[in-house]
Amino acid sequence: VGHGRDVDVVVVGGGIGGLANALALTLKGLRVRVLEQAHEFGEVGAGLQIAPNCTRILDRWGLLDEVTSLGVLPESIVMRDAIDGEVLTRLDLRDVERRYGFPYMVIHRSDLHGTLLRACRGAGVDLVNDVAVTGYEQAADGAVAVHAGGRERGAVVMAADGLRSVARRLLSDDEPVSSAYVAYRGAVPFEQVARLDVQPKDVVVHVGPRCHFVQYALRHGEMFNQVAVFESPKALAGEEEWGTPDELDAAFTATSEQVRAGLPLMWRDRWWRMFDRDPIDDWVRGRIALTGDAAHPPLQYLAQGAVMAIEDAWVLSEHVARLTGAAGVDWDGALAAYNAVRPLHCRRVLTTARAWGKLWHHDGEKREWRNAVLRARDVHDYTYVDWLFGPTALTPGELPPMFSGYDGEPVLA
Ligand code: FAD
Repeated sequence: VGHGRDVDVVVVGGGIGGLANALALTLKGLRVRVLEQAHEFGEVGAGLQIAPNCTRILDRWGLLDEVTSLGVLPESIVMRDAIDGEVLTRLDLRDVERRYGFPYMVIHRSDLHGTLLRACRGAGVDLVNDVAVTGYEQAADGAVAVHAGGRERGAVVMAADGLRSVARRLLSDDEPVSSAYVAYRGAVPFEQVARLDVQPKDVVVHVGPRCHFVQYALRHGEMFNQVAVFESPKALAGEEEWGTPDELDAAFTATSEQVRAGLPLMWRDRWWRMFDRDPIDDWVRGRIALTGDAAHPPLQYLAQGAVMAIEDAWVLSEHVARLTGAAGVDWDGALAAYNAVRPLHCRRVLTTARAWGKLWHHDGEKREWRNAVLRARDVHDYTYVDWLFGPTALTPGELPPMFSGYDGEPVLA
């Protein structure tokens, strides 16, 4: 017993990753059912940065106008030292759009999720709530997702069940890795920051010793989003209750006026302990495949987590379209093609994100060195982002080279 007629693809999880997969495959003519454990589909109301490698795909799906109307196109990403406030370097986002052909955007998470949800509904995706998948089975020419109320069979099951994925256990016995860092978020009406020294047209990242602070406007500039991230001394000491608001206050005492002025606006009733996982190079077991955070949860320093999930969906769907013939989809071929390219790219993102975090959080001499390196960077030097922002690779041969000096560790590590 499942939820009615058989489908081609069962997607487990209705976050940004699950919905992107459901939409991409439905647009290729397949019947898709999404199983979400929560009572409703939704996302927490904070901001998300989406780079040109993501807006390029949203454009292919016909969603770029809608997300643009909901989001903000900032003019620059500005990196400042969080202690003395000095501007260290800048990415000119108008030039980024010219270079890559698609914009860099910031958007309310629930607006991106809502756009994908409306598109899924419009395309005829079967969206089911209140279903927590507890197990997976291979079947003849397909796979099954098992839950308390029954079994859902598809030619393929895509597991988009996030950081603590149940499906990942089929492929790896690894566990989430704690970074001992925690994020506080807060999205408030712009009036609340109007009198502060904020730059509504920029994404500003203040990088400091063991902490950083991100600020940008959302929803046509009607809202202002802030993220405060710091290393938790309690986490390092092995305490259970870590990342608490007293630690937030203590972590930013030495920072610039601009940072400290924004801190009182953070939500203090919830926080996000930051975990990632070690990269794994195989995401496919039979007809069950991982996607999104289930496959590659990153530390968020490159702002590519949701973006990678959307890329996964696009890459798989392109291979499905290429391998669809009179007898239907060559699923084994499509999954193999997906598995050949996505883990390789996402491994680079995960390891670079870890190194990028270290760079941001340097103290003392290393901070001085970092600031000198960033100051010396030419505004129009794209070495650090070309490999991310260019067109998403469909095959390993299309993967762009990493910036020079890359040999498993980024040059600035
Ligand atoms: P999730 O969003 O975790 O969705 C998983 C879904 O599966 C959930 O709806 C869950 O309820 C459901 N589920 C779980 N288990 C089951 C089950 N057993 N049965 C049924 N359903 C189940 N990314 C960016 O691209 N840009 C950014 O700027 C950015 N900033 C970030 C800032 C912070 C502070 C953090 C923490 C992350 C950030 N990310 C960013 C990363 C991004 O949020 C995630 O990578 C992305 O949301 C992952 O989407 P997902 O759908 O794979 O997983």
